[in-house]
Amino acid sequence: MNGQMMQQPLLISSLLRHAERHHGTQEVVSRRVEGDIHRYTYADLASRSRKLAKALAGLGMAPGVRVGTIAWNTYRHLELYYAVSGSGAVLHTLNPRLHPDQLVWIADHAEDEVLCFDKTFLPLVEQVAERLKTVRKFVLMVDKEHMPTVPKIPGLICYEDLIAGEPTDRFEWPEFDEQTASSLCYTSGTTGNPKGVLYSHRSTVLHTFASALPDALNLSARDAVLPVVPMFHVNAWGLPYSACMVGAKLVFPGPGLDGKSLHELFEAEGVTVSAGVPTVWQGLLAHVQGNGLRFSTMRRTIIGGSACPPAMMSTFEDTYGVQVIHAWGMTELSPIGTVGILKGHQLDLPVEQRRSIQAKQGRGVFGIDMKIVGEDGAELPWDGKASGELLVRGHWVVEQYIKGDKSPLVNGWFPTGDVATIDADGFMNITDRAKDVIKSGGEWIGSIDIENIAMAHPAVAMAACIAAKHPKWDERPLLVVVKKPNVEVSKEDLLAFFNGRIAKWWTPDDVVFVDAIPLGATGKMLKNRLREQFQDHLLTPA
Ligand code: ADP
Repeated sequence: MNGQMMQQPLLISSLLRHAERHHGTQEVVSRRVEGDIHRYTYADLASRSRKLAKALAGLGMAPGVRVGTIAWNTYRHLELYYAVSGSGAVLHTLNPRLHPDQLVWIADHAEDEVLCFDKTFLPLVEQVAERLKTVRKFVLMVDKEHMPTVPKIPGLICYEDLIAGEPTDRFEWPEFDEQTASSLCYTSGTTGNPKGVLYSHRSTVLHTFASALPDALNLSARDAVLPVVPMFHVNAWGLPYSACMVGAKLVFPGPGLDGKSLHELFEAEGVTVSAGVPTVWQGLLAHVQGNGLRFSTMRRTIIGGSACPPAMMSTFEDTYGVQVIHAWGMTELSPIGTVGILKGHQLDLPVEQRRSIQAKQGRGVFGIDMKIVGEDGAELPWDGKASGELLVRGHWVVEQYIKGDKSPLVNGWFPTGDVATIDADGFMNITDRAKDVIKSGGEWIGSIDIENIAMAHPAVAMAACIAAKHPKWDERPLLVVVKKPNVEVSKEDLLAFFNGRIAKWWTPDDVVFVDAIPLGATGKMLKNRLREQFQDHLLTPA
């Protein structure tokens, strides 16, 4: 017997419709590429998105057509999120920090037909335009005044002209199957070619519900949310959708991602929640600490993408009263998998114990199931000790990569490539990515624990622990460190800092000091580069 309830497909357009009808006066504020601050409301967003949907249809955007974006976090990018997916076409966010050759490869592979981009990226697009085999229309996201006088790209279209060309916003979002593809994001491809993950309306709306819950990102109509995480990095972790679902104020930083610009915007707009990778917060904290500033409205910050060092967590919480929400996810999960919010019985634990729980990557949100398996594929116990490969399944987990030939799944589970433990309370703790694990004399050493300890040393600005070849043990941990400016520390001091904090055999064999650690397109440390550079370091001691 079927239930007798309404059948309404879970569509992305319903999020915008809700924001317009129930939170129409709520603000969306953006620092624009043009340099000024732009503000309007959800009602304006909805109206302009409808006009944009009509205008893009006029350019040939039809259901299933891929529309690429190369853009910062701003209201125009948000309009594209809704206009493209809401029409049944596919929004493909490209990461401008990738190498131009890789961008061309991805746009070709996705068969993008329209490309919309911010003025910052005009030189980049001019450089690659001729090589983009499938792109027919190029749209520059500016008003007429900011269009180049002599465009190098033939037929370059002005975004504001497109919208102005639509006299009315009368337009009904189409209804279609909720399994329809909505958006496309490629993994950064640190090994091999990038792989495209094609999200659906259903997976996106379910992810939005789950991510807004109190034990996940905890979002509400009382929040002002500033996503520092780019809208080209796994949909800014879903915040452009969840903010509309709950009616939160949205504040977009545009290209201003330095500590000073961010802090100014936090304060001016009363931001209560933000989100980003640890390397972004390093810059922000350095600015705030260096200038004796405070956060007067910020209450929570979501940190993920790579492990949040406990030292960063305690600076945020103890010095500034900002709660850190540590989250784990992947492009293949759009992205949220686990969030590290304490359970009731953990609240009264001594601070040290609470911190060590919060440093873990967290509990699975409803909609995601997970398990860890040993080398034989058998499931390992949730005892906080056994460590193995992490597998997940759920409503917003990839089943197949775009144009993929063989399924990435193993018996219906997606292998994440992360190595983790899970404790009895269900808190998952990543000890490493499988490819970063250090194998010393046949035993695994997790590099993240070592990095977290190094980051707690007052002289350390950034630390990466990598596997270096070793004549006796195969591999041993080598610590690569960027020192804070104007502080001195020796190798011996740093290595002594590990005494009592970690098993003796996990202590790195040596430390190398560098000026900078290379970062990838999403702000993560490129450990494979460091390995190329330093893998023989222990074979040729100085
Ligand atoms: P890519 O894999 O291409 O770098 P993703 O953004 O999808 O791009 O990265 C997902 C990976 O990032 C995860 O598999 C995990 O290794 C790492 N990661 C994400 N969040 C965390 C976290 N909170 N702690 C540790 N690692 C994390």
